[in-house]
Amino acid sequence: MSATEVDFYELLGVSRDADGATVKSAYRKMAMKYHPDRNPGDAEAEARFKACSAAYEVLKDPQKRAAYDRYGHEAFQQGMGGGGGHHGAEFSDLGDIFETIFGSAFGGGASGRARPRRGADLRYDMQVSLEEAFHGKSTQITVEVAATCDTCEGSGAEPGTGKRRCELCHGHGKVRAQQGLFVIERPCPTCSGRGEVLEQHCHSCRGEGRVDQEQVLDVEIPPGVDNGTRIRLSGKGEAGPMGAPAGDLYIFVHIKEHPVFAREGTALFTRVPVSFTVAALGDTLEIPGLDGEKHSIDIPAGIQSGKQLRKRGAGMPVLQGRGRGDLVVEVMVETPTKLSSRQKELLREFRETETGEECPESRGFFDKLKEAFGG
Ligand SMILES: [Zn+2]
Ligand SMILES: [Zn+2]
Repeated sequence: MSATEVDFYELLGVSRDADGATVKSAYRKMAMKYHPDRNPGDAEAEARFKACSAAYEVLKDPQKRAAYDRYGHEAFQQGMGGGGGHHGAEFSDLGDIFETIFGSAFGGGASGRARPRRGADLRYDMQVSLEEAFHGKSTQITVEVAATCDTCEGSGAEPGTGKRRCELCHGHGKVRAQQGLFVIERPCPTCSGRGEVLEQHCHSCRGEGRVDQEQVLDVEIPPGVDNGTRIRLSGKGEAGPMGAPAGDLYIFVHIKEHPVFAREGTALFTRVPVSFTVAALGDTLEIPGLDGEKHSIDIPAGIQSGKQLRKRGAGMPVLQGRGRGDLVVEVMVETPTKLSSRQKELLREFRETETGEECPESRGFFDKLKEAFGG
């Protein structure tokens, strides 16, 4: 690991276009902080002080700075002749310092260039009716998504032009910056970690390698989807930068509310009002299902309001599986509100026949009341 890994601008915490006064005040701040007089016996602080001084030596001098900007540390190493040989010793010191203090922490990673990143995954929210969730559906969606630029085929370079090595990181793709007590290695801001920069940006995508495009995609909604189901369209997300692979597009399913059926997992749930005579005498009900069939449900005589009846296999299909869930019918017994005089007469007659044994549940309730209140 050599001194060329350490960027002078990063070291002082200034941008590459910082003016002389900014560089100077940044250096002063660092010098104050790490000066050996202020940090007696602290070797690390001393090392930093030296490193910052070396950086300032170069950046304060417009000529040296220009040479540094152009050639990096090589400008001051043997054979380049850019900025005077007497700096050579200082820079190799600097290299040793960083080697000693921080060398092992990076495990030699500085030499590896960043691989182009895959494009971002995208999310598309889709409303699906319960019927569509039941049967599944083939549909199309239109999305605006960053796609590989046709002009440059994703390279970002104007056709006929090439790339050159990044000057800031010397092709390593990484730079080091001091942050508090640590030196942080991060992707080079100039080349985004690629180690090289374009000679000329593509006019269509301005060097991005991607352009926003409206795309129409076929989507297959399988039967049985539910809220929270995600359908992945592989490679249909954002195109990767510089021709890297595209991300995926995820369709997030939202089931619209249904006027008749509620759904829980593979079960379909509904409430059915029945007259008190049906509840008392029993009957068979026909419930139209989402499948278009009618499901007959037997109401046993004497059923109570709130009782649930289950029809196996008449619910939602199992997503990517076999079979179906259950249809659950909750019975709501309705008390008649409009009775003809004839009906009233019959009911009065019925009341006279009551023995108190007809409604075992309510008798049980009154027994409990008596027990509790001694009445
Ligand atoms: Zn392009
Ligand atoms: Zn770079």
